[in-house]
Amino acid sequence: MLLVDLGAAVGVFLCALSPVPARSWVIAGVLAACATAHLHFSRWIERIRRDHSHLPHVDLCSIWIFAGALVLPPLPAVLLVIVIYLHRWWVVGRWDASRPPHRCVFTVSMMILAALAANGVSHASGLREHLLAGTPSGLLDLVGIVGAAAAQWGVNSLLVGVVIAITVKLRKIGEALGSGADNLLEVGQLALGAFVALAVAWWPGFALPMVVAAVALHRTVLIHQLELAARTDNKTGLLNAESWHLQARLELQRTRDRQTPSTMGLFMIDVDHFKDINDRYGHQVGDTVLREIASTLAGSVRRGDSVGRFGGEEFAVLLPMVERAEALAIAERVRAQVFGLVIDDCLGGTVTGLGVSIGVAIWPEIDEDTLEGVLAAADSALYEAKRLGRDQVQLAGTHRRLRWAPSARKTHAVD
Ligand code: GH3
Ligand code: MG
Ligand code: MG
Repeated sequence: MLLVDLGAAVGVFLCALSPVPARSWVIAGVLAACATAHLHFSRWIERIRRDHSHLPHVDLCSIWIFAGALVLPPLPAVLLVIVIYLHRWWVVGRWDASRPPHRCVFTVSMMILAALAANGVSHASGLREHLLAGTPSGLLDLVGIVGAAAAQWGVNSLLVGVVIAITVKLRKIGEALGSGADNLLEVGQLALGAFVALAVAWWPGFALPMVVAAVALHRTVLIHQLELAARTDNKTGLLNAESWHLQARLELQRTRDRQTPSTMGLFMIDVDHFKDINDRYGHQVGDTVLREIASTLAGSVRRGDSVGRFGGEEFAVLLPMVERAEALAIAERVRAQVFGLVIDDCLGGTVTGLGVSIGVAIWPEIDEDTLEGVLAAADSALYEAKRLGRDQVQLAGTHRRLRWAPSARKTHAVD
Protein backbone atom coordinates (compact mmCIF):
# COMPACT_ATOMS: atom_id res chain seq x y z
CA MET A 1 0.00 0.00 0.00
CA LEU A 2 2.85 2.34 0.82
CA LEU A 3 4.38 1.66 -2.58
CA VAL A 4 1.14 2.65 -4.29
CA ASP A 5 0.91 5.81 -2.11
CA LEU A 6 4.51 6.67 -2.97
CA GLY A 7 3.92 6.03 -6.68
CA ALA A 8 0.92 8.37 -6.65
CA ALA A 9 2.86 11.11 -4.79
CA VAL A 10 5.67 10.93 -7.37
CA GLY A 11 3.05 10.99 -10.13
CA VAL A 12 1.42 14.16 -8.76
CA PHE A 13 4.83 15.82 -8.39
CA LEU A 14 5.77 15.03 -12.01
CA CYS A 15 2.36 16.25 -13.23
CA ALA A 16 2.92 19.60 -11.55
CA LEU A 17 5.88 20.19 -13.87
CA SER A 18 3.82 20.34 -17.06
CA PRO A 19 1.95 23.56 -18.01
CA VAL A 20 -1.85 23.69 -18.01
CA PRO A 21 -3.84 25.89 -20.44
CA ALA A 22 -6.62 28.02 -18.94
CA ARG A 23 -9.30 26.11 -20.89
CA SER A 24 -8.32 22.89 -19.13
CA TRP A 25 -8.84 24.49 -15.73
CA VAL A 26 -12.35 25.48 -16.79
CA ILE A 27 -13.14 21.90 -17.93
CA ALA A 28 -11.63 20.49 -14.71
CA GLY A 29 -13.73 22.91 -12.65
CA VAL A 30 -16.94 21.91 -14.41
CA LEU A 31 -16.16 18.19 -14.05
CA ALA A 32 -15.40 18.69 -10.35
CA ALA A 33 -18.68 20.59 -9.88
CA CYS A 34 -20.65 17.87 -11.68
CA ALA A 35 -18.97 15.09 -9.71
CA THR A 36 -19.62 16.94 -6.46
CA ALA A 37 -23.28 17.42 -7.36
CA HIS A 38 -23.57 13.72 -8.27
CA LEU A 39 -22.03 12.66 -4.94
CA HIS A 40 -24.11 15.14 -3.00
CA PHE A 41 -27.43 13.99 -4.47
CA SER A 42 -26.52 10.32 -4.08
CA ARG A 43 -24.96 10.47 -0.61
CA TRP A 44 -27.86 8.64 1.07
CA ILE A 45 -27.63 5.93 -1.60
CA GLU A 46 -23.94 5.42 -0.93
CA ARG A 47 -24.53 5.21 2.83
CA ILE A 48 -27.14 2.47 2.40
CA ARG A 49 -24.90 0.62 -0.07
CA ARG A 50 -22.06 0.59 2.44
CA ASP A 51 -24.29 -0.63 5.25
CA HIS A 52 -25.34 -3.58 3.09
CA SER A 53 -22.03 -4.65 1.66
CA HIS A 54 -19.20 -6.30 3.56
CA LEU A 55 -17.19 -6.70 0.36
CA PRO A 56 -15.53 -3.89 -1.57
CA HIS A 57 -18.06 -2.43 -3.95
CA VAL A 58 -17.81 -0.36 -7.10
CA ASP A 59 -18.05 3.32 -6.36
CA LEU A 60 -19.51 5.55 -9.03
CA CYS A 61 -16.84 8.22 -9.38
CA SER A 62 -15.20 6.68 -12.46
CA ILE A 63 -17.49 8.53 -14.88
CA TRP A 64 -15.93 11.86 -13.93
CA ILE A 65 -12.42 10.59 -13.31
CA PHE A 66 -12.26 8.90 -16.71
CA ALA A 67 -13.70 11.92 -18.50
CA GLY A 68 -11.01 14.07 -16.88
CA ALA A 69 -8.29 11.57 -17.72
CA LEU A 70 -9.28 11.63 -21.41
CA VAL A 71 -9.57 15.33 -21.92
CA LEU A 72 -7.34 17.04 -19.34
CA PRO A 73 -3.56 17.41 -18.93
CA PRO A 74 -2.12 15.25 -16.08
CA LEU A 75 -2.19 17.88 -13.28
CA PRO A 76 -5.89 18.83 -13.43
CA ALA A 77 -6.74 15.16 -14.09
CA VAL A 78 -5.17 14.08 -10.78
CA LEU A 79 -6.45 17.13 -8.91
CA LEU A 80 -9.94 16.14 -10.05
CA VAL A 81 -9.42 12.71 -8.45
CA ILE A 82 -8.29 14.32 -5.20
CA VAL A 83 -11.22 16.77 -5.10
CA ILE A 84 -13.75 13.99 -5.80
CA TYR A 85 -12.45 11.74 -3.02
CA LEU A 86 -12.06 14.58 -0.51
CA HIS A 87 -15.69 15.49 -1.09
CA ARG A 88 -16.75 11.86 -0.93
CA TRP A 89 -15.24 11.37 2.52
CA TRP A 90 -16.67 14.65 3.67
CA VAL A 91 -20.26 13.63 2.87
CA VAL A 92 -20.10 9.84 3.04
CA GLY A 93 -16.88 8.73 4.73
CA ARG A 94 -17.54 10.41 8.04
CA TRP A 95 -20.27 7.84 8.72
CA ASP A 96 -18.01 4.92 7.95
CA ALA A 97 -15.93 4.06 10.98
CA SER A 98 -14.71 0.81 9.41
CA ARG A 99 -12.47 2.66 6.93
CA PRO A 100 -9.19 3.71 8.53
CA PRO A 101 -7.41 6.75 7.02
CA HIS A 102 -4.63 4.71 5.43
CA ARG A 103 -7.21 2.88 3.33
CA CYS A 104 -8.71 6.14 2.17
CA VAL A 105 -5.26 7.44 1.17
CA PHE A 106 -4.63 4.18 -0.65
CA THR A 107 -7.88 4.46 -2.59
CA VAL A 108 -7.01 7.98 -3.79
CA SER A 109 -3.46 6.91 -4.66
CA MET A 110 -4.77 3.96 -6.63
CA MET A 111 -7.26 6.10 -8.52
CA ILE A 112 -4.54 8.67 -9.26
CA LEU A 113 -2.36 5.95 -10.79
CA ALA A 114 -5.32 4.53 -12.73
CA ALA A 115 -6.27 8.01 -14.04
CA LEU A 116 -2.65 8.70 -14.99
CA ALA A 117 -2.53 5.44 -16.94
CA ALA A 118 -5.66 6.43 -18.89
CA ASN A 119 -4.32 9.97 -19.28
CA GLY A 120 -1.04 8.63 -20.69
CA VAL A 121 -2.87 6.53 -23.28
CA SER A 122 -5.13 9.44 -24.25
CA HIS A 123 -2.13 11.73 -24.71
CA ALA A 124 0.11 9.20 -26.48
CA SER A 125 -2.63 8.17 -28.93
CA GLY A 126 -3.36 11.79 -29.85
CA LEU A 127 -6.96 11.40 -28.56
CA ARG A 128 -6.75 14.33 -26.15
CA GLU A 129 -5.55 16.74 -28.84
CA HIS A 130 -8.24 15.54 -31.25
CA LEU A 131 -10.95 15.96 -28.62
CA LEU A 132 -9.88 19.47 -27.67
CA ALA A 133 -9.46 20.51 -31.31
CA GLY A 134 -12.95 19.18 -32.06
CA THR A 135 -11.56 16.78 -34.68
CA PRO A 136 -11.98 13.24 -33.33
CA SER A 137 -10.74 11.02 -36.13
CA GLY A 138 -13.08 8.05 -36.09
CA LEU A 139 -11.80 4.56 -35.57
CA LEU A 140 -8.35 5.53 -34.36
CA ASP A 141 -9.74 7.68 -31.56
CA LEU A 142 -12.22 4.97 -30.66
CA VAL A 143 -9.23 2.67 -30.21
CA GLY A 144 -7.66 5.40 -28.04
CA ILE A 145 -10.80 5.53 -25.84
CA VAL A 146 -10.88 1.74 -25.46
CA GLY A 147 -7.14 1.68 -24.71
CA ALA A 148 -7.47 4.42 -22.08
CA ALA A 149 -10.46 2.66 -20.49
CA ALA A 150 -8.51 -0.61 -20.42
CA ALA A 151 -5.57 1.18 -18.78
CA GLN A 152 -7.74 2.77 -16.05
CA TRP A 153 -9.71 -0.42 -15.41
CA GLY A 154 -6.60 -2.62 -15.54
CA VAL A 155 -4.53 -0.55 -13.09
CA ASN A 156 -7.51 -0.18 -10.75
CA SER A 157 -8.41 -3.89 -10.75
CA LEU A 158 -4.81 -5.03 -10.45
CA LEU A 159 -4.02 -2.83 -7.45
CA VAL A 160 -7.33 -3.52 -5.66
CA GLY A 161 -7.00 -7.25 -6.39
CA VAL A 162 -3.44 -7.56 -5.13
CA VAL A 163 -3.93 -5.50 -1.98
CA ILE A 164 -7.24 -7.06 -0.98
CA ALA A 165 -5.94 -10.55 -1.65
CA ILE A 166 -3.03 -9.82 0.70
CA THR A 167 -4.81 -7.85 3.43
CA VAL A 168 -8.24 -9.42 3.68
CA LYS A 169 -6.92 -12.88 2.75
CA LEU A 170 -9.84 -13.58 0.47
CA ARG A 171 -9.60 -17.15 -0.63
CA LYS A 172 -10.12 -16.51 -4.28
CA ILE A 173 -8.52 -13.68 -6.18
CA GLY A 174 -11.71 -13.56 -8.25
CA GLU A 175 -13.61 -12.46 -5.16
CA ALA A 176 -11.22 -9.55 -4.74
CA LEU A 177 -11.58 -8.52 -8.36
CA GLY A 178 -15.36 -8.31 -8.03
CA SER A 179 -18.20 -10.10 -9.73
CA GLY A 180 -19.09 -9.93 -13.42
CA ALA A 181 -21.84 -7.46 -12.56
CA ASP A 182 -19.36 -5.20 -10.72
CA ASN A 183 -17.01 -5.20 -13.66
CA LEU A 184 -19.84 -4.50 -16.08
CA LEU A 185 -20.85 -1.53 -13.93
CA GLU A 186 -17.28 -0.26 -13.96
CA VAL A 187 -17.00 -0.63 -17.74
CA GLY A 188 -20.40 1.06 -18.14
CA GLN A 189 -19.10 4.01 -16.14
CA LEU A 190 -16.04 4.26 -18.34
CA ALA A 191 -18.29 4.31 -21.41
CA LEU A 192 -20.35 7.14 -19.90
CA GLY A 193 -17.09 8.91 -18.96
CA ALA A 194 -16.02 8.79 -22.61
CA PHE A 195 -19.25 10.52 -23.64
CA VAL A 196 -18.76 13.15 -20.93
CA ALA A 197 -15.25 13.76 -22.32
CA LEU A 198 -16.64 14.23 -25.84
CA ALA A 199 -19.31 16.57 -24.50
CA VAL A 200 -17.05 18.78 -22.37
CA ALA A 201 -14.55 19.07 -25.20
CA TRP A 202 -17.32 20.76 -27.23
CA TRP A 203 -18.63 22.85 -24.37
CA PRO A 204 -18.05 22.19 -20.62
CA GLY A 205 -21.73 22.79 -19.76
CA PHE A 206 -22.73 19.66 -21.68
CA ALA A 207 -21.53 17.63 -18.68
CA LEU A 208 -24.44 18.82 -16.56
CA PRO A 209 -27.15 16.42 -17.89
CA MET A 210 -24.85 13.52 -17.01
CA VAL A 211 -25.28 14.38 -13.30
CA VAL A 212 -28.92 13.28 -13.60
CA ALA A 213 -27.91 10.10 -15.43
CA ALA A 214 -25.24 9.34 -12.81
CA VAL A 215 -27.65 9.76 -9.88
CA ALA A 216 -30.24 7.58 -11.66
CA LEU A 217 -27.61 4.89 -12.30
CA HIS A 218 -26.51 5.09 -8.67
CA ARG A 219 -30.07 4.55 -7.49
CA THR A 220 -30.57 1.57 -9.80
CA VAL A 221 -27.39 -0.02 -8.49
CA LEU A 222 -28.65 0.42 -4.91
CA ILE A 223 -31.96 -1.27 -5.71
CA HIS A 224 -30.15 -4.19 -7.30
CA GLN A 225 -27.85 -4.47 -4.28
CA LEU A 226 -30.80 -4.45 -1.85
CA GLU A 227 -32.63 -7.08 -3.90
CA LEU A 228 -29.57 -9.27 -3.74
CA ALA A 229 -29.22 -8.73 0.02
CA ALA A 230 -32.88 -9.63 0.55
CA ARG A 231 -32.39 -12.93 -1.26
CA THR A 232 -29.06 -13.92 0.23
CA ASP A 233 -28.03 -15.59 3.45
CA ASN A 234 -25.54 -13.23 5.05
CA LYS A 235 -23.19 -15.81 6.43
CA THR A 236 -22.77 -18.10 3.45
CA GLY A 237 -23.84 -16.07 0.42
CA LEU A 238 -26.31 -18.82 -0.54
CA LEU A 239 -30.03 -18.21 -1.06
CA ASN A 240 -31.84 -17.63 2.21
CA ALA A 241 -34.71 -19.90 3.25
CA GLU A 242 -37.47 -17.62 1.91
CA SER A 243 -36.04 -17.13 -1.55
CA TRP A 244 -35.10 -20.81 -1.80
CA HIS A 245 -38.70 -21.76 -1.02
CA LEU A 246 -39.94 -19.31 -3.62
CA GLN A 247 -37.68 -20.75 -6.31
CA ALA A 248 -38.46 -24.34 -5.31
CA ARG A 249 -42.19 -23.71 -5.47
CA LEU A 250 -41.88 -22.16 -8.93
CA GLU A 251 -39.70 -25.03 -10.15
CA LEU A 252 -42.16 -27.64 -8.90
CA GLN A 253 -44.91 -25.83 -10.77
CA ARG A 254 -42.77 -25.66 -13.92
CA THR A 255 -41.94 -29.37 -13.69
CA ARG A 256 -45.62 -30.16 -13.32
CA ASP A 257 -46.58 -27.98 -16.29
CA ARG A 258 -44.05 -29.43 -18.72
CA GLN A 259 -45.56 -31.29 -21.68
CA THR A 260 -43.02 -34.10 -21.48
CA PRO A 261 -42.77 -35.97 -18.17
CA SER A 262 -39.98 -34.37 -16.14
CA THR A 263 -38.40 -35.00 -12.78
CA MET A 264 -37.04 -32.71 -10.12
CA GLY A 265 -34.63 -33.49 -7.29
CA LEU A 266 -34.42 -32.10 -3.80
CA PHE A 267 -31.64 -32.54 -1.24
CA MET A 268 -31.85 -31.84 2.45
CA ILE A 269 -28.38 -31.64 3.91
CA ASP A 270 -27.34 -31.49 7.56
CA VAL A 271 -23.78 -31.24 8.84
CA ASP A 272 -22.87 -34.11 11.14
CA HIS A 273 -21.91 -33.42 14.75
CA PHE A 274 -21.63 -29.73 14.07
CA LYS A 275 -22.17 -28.89 17.70
CA ASP A 276 -18.94 -30.75 18.48
CA ILE A 277 -17.07 -28.54 16.00
CA ASN A 278 -18.38 -25.43 17.76
CA ASP A 279 -17.54 -26.87 21.17
CA ARG A 280 -14.06 -27.92 20.16
CA TYR A 281 -12.91 -25.03 17.96
CA GLY A 282 -15.27 -22.21 18.87
CA HIS A 283 -18.09 -20.52 16.95
CA GLN A 284 -15.76 -18.49 14.72
CA VAL A 285 -14.23 -21.64 13.27
CA GLY A 286 -17.73 -23.13 13.17
CA ASP A 287 -18.79 -20.22 10.96
CA THR A 288 -15.77 -20.71 8.70
CA VAL A 289 -16.68 -24.39 8.39
CA LEU A 290 -20.24 -23.41 7.41
CA ARG A 291 -18.95 -21.02 4.76
CA GLU A 292 -16.55 -23.62 3.36
CA ILE A 293 -19.27 -26.25 3.21
CA ALA A 294 -21.61 -23.76 1.53
CA SER A 295 -19.10 -22.89 -1.16
CA THR A 296 -18.26 -26.58 -1.69
CA LEU A 297 -21.96 -27.25 -2.05
CA ALA A 298 -22.43 -24.45 -4.56
CA GLY A 299 -19.40 -25.68 -6.49
CA SER A 300 -20.41 -29.34 -6.64
CA VAL A 301 -23.97 -29.03 -7.91
CA ARG A 302 -24.91 -28.21 -11.51
CA ARG A 303 -25.32 -24.74 -12.97
CA GLY A 304 -28.97 -23.84 -12.46
CA ASP A 305 -29.43 -25.84 -9.27
CA SER A 306 -30.60 -23.68 -6.36
CA VAL A 307 -28.65 -23.97 -3.14
CA GLY A 308 -30.10 -22.45 0.01
CA ARG A 309 -29.29 -22.29 3.69
CA PHE A 310 -32.24 -23.30 5.80
CA GLY A 311 -30.70 -21.91 8.93
CA GLY A 312 -28.17 -23.35 11.35
CA GLU A 313 -26.14 -26.06 9.64
CA GLU A 314 -28.89 -27.20 7.31
CA PHE A 315 -28.91 -26.68 3.58
CA ALA A 316 -31.30 -27.51 0.77
CA VAL A 317 -30.63 -27.99 -2.93
CA LEU A 318 -33.18 -27.99 -5.70
CA LEU A 319 -32.24 -29.75 -8.93
CA PRO A 320 -34.52 -29.12 -11.90
CA MET A 321 -34.83 -31.82 -14.58
CA VAL A 322 -32.64 -34.43 -12.95
CA GLU A 323 -32.84 -38.22 -13.12
CA ARG A 324 -32.54 -40.26 -9.98
CA ALA A 325 -29.09 -41.68 -10.86
CA GLU A 326 -27.68 -38.25 -11.63
CA ALA A 327 -29.14 -36.75 -8.45
CA LEU A 328 -27.58 -39.50 -6.37
CA ALA A 329 -24.25 -39.03 -8.12
CA ILE A 330 -24.35 -35.29 -7.37
CA ALA A 331 -25.28 -35.92 -3.73
CA GLU A 332 -22.43 -38.37 -3.41
CA ARG A 333 -20.05 -35.86 -4.97
CA VAL A 334 -21.16 -33.24 -2.44
CA ARG A 335 -20.62 -35.66 0.43
CA ALA A 336 -17.18 -36.72 -0.82
CA GLN A 337 -16.02 -33.14 -1.41
CA VAL A 338 -17.14 -32.00 2.03
CA PHE A 339 -15.35 -35.00 3.52
CA GLY A 340 -12.18 -33.95 1.69
CA LEU A 341 -12.22 -30.38 3.04
CA VAL A 342 -9.21 -29.21 5.03
CA ILE A 343 -10.00 -26.06 7.00
CA ASP A 344 -7.65 -23.94 9.08
CA ASP A 345 -8.70 -24.13 12.75
CA CYS A 346 -6.91 -20.85 13.68
CA LEU A 347 -4.89 -22.75 16.30
CA GLY A 348 -2.19 -23.99 13.96
CA GLY A 349 -4.10 -27.14 13.03
CA THR A 350 -6.84 -28.14 10.64
CA VAL A 351 -10.43 -29.35 10.73
CA THR A 352 -10.81 -32.43 8.54
CA GLY A 353 -13.13 -35.40 8.04
CA LEU A 354 -16.33 -33.33 8.00
CA GLY A 355 -19.46 -35.31 7.39
CA VAL A 356 -22.80 -34.39 5.89
CA SER A 357 -25.96 -36.48 5.84
CA ILE A 358 -28.03 -36.02 2.70
CA GLY A 359 -31.65 -36.94 2.11
CA VAL A 360 -32.61 -37.06 -1.58
CA ALA A 361 -36.19 -36.90 -2.87
CA ILE A 362 -37.12 -37.17 -6.54
CA TRP A 363 -40.46 -35.81 -7.71
CA PRO A 364 -42.76 -37.37 -8.99
CA GLU A 365 -41.23 -40.63 -7.69
CA ILE A 366 -42.27 -39.22 -4.32
CA ASP A 367 -46.02 -39.26 -4.44
CA GLU A 368 -46.52 -35.80 -2.99
CA ASP A 369 -48.21 -32.84 -4.58
CA THR A 370 -46.78 -29.98 -2.59
CA LEU A 371 -43.29 -28.68 -1.96
CA GLU A 372 -43.84 -29.28 1.74
CA GLY A 373 -44.53 -32.93 0.98
CA VAL A 374 -41.36 -33.36 -1.10
CA LEU A 375 -39.37 -31.55 1.59
CA ALA A 376 -40.78 -33.81 4.28
CA ALA A 377 -39.80 -36.87 2.22
CA ALA A 378 -36.22 -35.56 1.79
CA ASP A 379 -36.16 -34.73 5.49
CA SER A 380 -37.13 -38.23 6.53
CA ALA A 381 -34.45 -39.65 4.20
CA LEU A 382 -32.00 -37.30 5.91
CA TYR A 383 -33.18 -38.54 9.28
CA GLU A 384 -32.58 -42.08 8.05
CA ALA A 385 -29.05 -41.14 6.96
CA LYS A 386 -28.41 -39.86 10.49
CA ARG A 387 -29.86 -42.98 12.04
CA LEU A 388 -27.73 -45.25 9.88
CA GLY A 389 -24.48 -43.64 10.97
CA ARG A 390 -24.25 -40.21 9.22
CA ASP A 391 -21.88 -39.11 6.42
CA GLN A 392 -24.02 -40.74 3.77
CA VAL A 393 -26.71 -40.25 1.14
CA GLN A 394 -30.20 -41.73 1.45
CA LEU A 395 -32.91 -41.79 -1.20
CA ALA A 396 -36.46 -41.18 -0.04
CA GLY A 397 -39.35 -43.46 -0.83
CA THR A 398 -37.61 -46.46 -2.32
CA HIS A 399 -37.26 -49.73 -0.54
CA ARG A 400 -34.44 -51.35 -2.34
CA ARG A 401 -30.78 -50.95 -1.57
CA LEU A 402 -28.99 -49.18 -4.40
CA ARG A 403 -25.77 -50.50 -5.80
CA TRP A 404 -23.49 -47.55 -5.93
CA ALA A 405 -19.95 -48.13 -7.15
CA PRO A 406 -17.40 -46.97 -6.26
CA SER A 407 -18.83 -45.33 -3.14
CA ALA A 408 -21.51 -47.93 -2.38
CA ARG A 409 -20.54 -47.77 1.28
CA LYS A 410 -21.99 -44.28 1.53
CA THR A 411 -25.14 -44.34 -0.61
CA HIS A 412 -28.23 -46.33 0.28
CA ALA A 413 -31.91 -46.33 -0.26
CA VAL A 414 -34.15 -46.02 2.78
CA ASP A 415 -35.23 -49.53 3.79
P1 GH3 B 1 -26.18 -34.14 14.10
O1 GH3 B 1 -25.12 -34.97 13.49
O2 GH3 B 1 -27.22 -34.94 14.77
O3 GH3 B 1 -26.77 -33.21 13.12
O4 GH3 B 1 -25.48 -33.29 15.23
P2 GH3 B 1 -25.31 -31.74 15.31
O5 GH3 B 1 -24.38 -31.45 16.44
O6 GH3 B 1 -24.91 -31.21 14.02
O7 GH3 B 1 -26.79 -31.28 15.55
P3 GH3 B 1 -27.49 -30.15 16.33
O8 GH3 B 1 -28.69 -29.75 15.54
O9 GH3 B 1 -27.72 -30.60 17.74
O10 GH3 B 1 -26.47 -28.95 16.37
C1 GH3 B 1 -26.46 -27.95 15.47
C2 GH3 B 1 -25.55 -26.90 16.01
O11 GH3 B 1 -25.30 -25.92 15.03
C3 GH3 B 1 -26.11 -26.19 17.19
C4 GH3 B 1 -25.80 -24.73 16.97
O12 GH3 B 1 -25.04 -24.20 18.02
C5 GH3 B 1 -24.96 -24.74 15.72
N1 GH3 B 1 -25.21 -23.61 14.86
C6 GH3 B 1 -26.38 -23.24 14.29
N2 GH3 B 1 -26.21 -22.16 13.51
C7 GH3 B 1 -24.90 -21.81 13.61
C8 GH3 B 1 -24.11 -20.77 13.04
O13 GH3 B 1 -24.57 -19.94 12.26
N3 GH3 B 1 -22.78 -20.75 13.34
C9 GH3 B 1 -22.21 -21.68 14.18
N4 GH3 B 1 -20.91 -21.58 14.43
N5 GH3 B 1 -22.96 -22.65 14.74
C10 GH3 B 1 -24.27 -22.73 14.45
MG1 MG C 1 -26.23 -31.38 12.33
MG1 MG D 1 -29.33 -29.60 12.30
